Amino acid sequence: MRSISLHWTGRDYESVFPAYHFCVSRPDDVLVTYTHDLHENMRDVRLDPSLPYAAHTRARNAWSIGLSIAAMRGATPQDFGAYPLTEPQLDGLCQVAARLAAFYGIDVAAIRTHAEAAVDDDYFGAGGADVRWDIARLRPSPEPLVPDEARTTGDWFRNRIESFMARAR
Ligand SMILES: [Zn+2]
Repeated sequence: MRSISLHWTGRDYESVFPAYHFCVSRPDDVLVTYTHDLHENMRDVRLDPSLPYAAHTRARNAWSIGLSIAAMRGATPQDFGAYPLTEPQLDGLCQVAARLAAFYGIDVAAIRTHAEAAVDDDYFGAGGADVRWDIARLRPSPEPLVPDEARTTGDWFRNRIESFMARAR
């Protein structure tokens, strides 16, 4: 595997989905569930899209691991709603990413949020079926959502994941 993509599900704290390889559910005593066979993304999925794979990030699923936090149903950038991201979930996501990156030798720069991919591929935004902003913001704020925030939050994840990797060495 060559890259890792970070997501939220946009659903409740319990539901997990095979569009990702691992989901981090429950708000406090988090549970990590293996929801899709990693091997199915160990290929250029565009060559035969009819074969199964975890379709987590548009046009970027080849050799790519998808991780997701079970949260954020009904969330907007200003109001995270009834299922906001929690600190234990963010921690869990970063620890899983660190383990996988170490195992597969994935460079920390190749760990990115879905929001960063959406910025690059021109579908970044909140409030529409065809736009994505996971995970561009860690807590609700009245500030308008801008691409720079996706990069800053992506850096926050990479730093935190790197610190877990350093601790494991
Ligand atoms: Zn996503």
